[in-house]
Amino acid sequence: MTKSEDRLMPTGTCWCGCGTEVGLGSFFSQGHDKIAEAALLAARYENSVARLIAQHGFGPHNGIREAAVESGHWEACPGADCNYLGTPASIRNHRKKAQH
Ligand SMILES: [Zn+2]
Ligand SMILES: [Zn+2]
Repeated sequence: MTKSEDRLMPTGTCWCGCGTEVGLGSFFSQGHDKIAEAALLAARYENSVARLIAQHGFGPHNGIREAAVESGHWEACPGADCNYLGTPASIRNHRKKAQH
């Protein structure tokens, strides 16, 4: 599996473009990854997550959540009859709330 970040190197300057210097090993100043994500959505996808998903060939009949699991970054909840998918951390959270 090739992760996109394997080919990227932090440069010491925040990748959102704000110019803040960040520690070695970090791409972003605290929280700026979310800013960059939102800016990308605004700049290229008309602020629409539906457009972003469709642009990558996903939609109601080709689930993006399953693709996240296939990528190895997400997992499926082992609970019976549960279709929850998410990161290992979010599955732990979900299982606590769902009590299974
Ligand atoms: Zn920044
Ligand atoms: Zn579950």
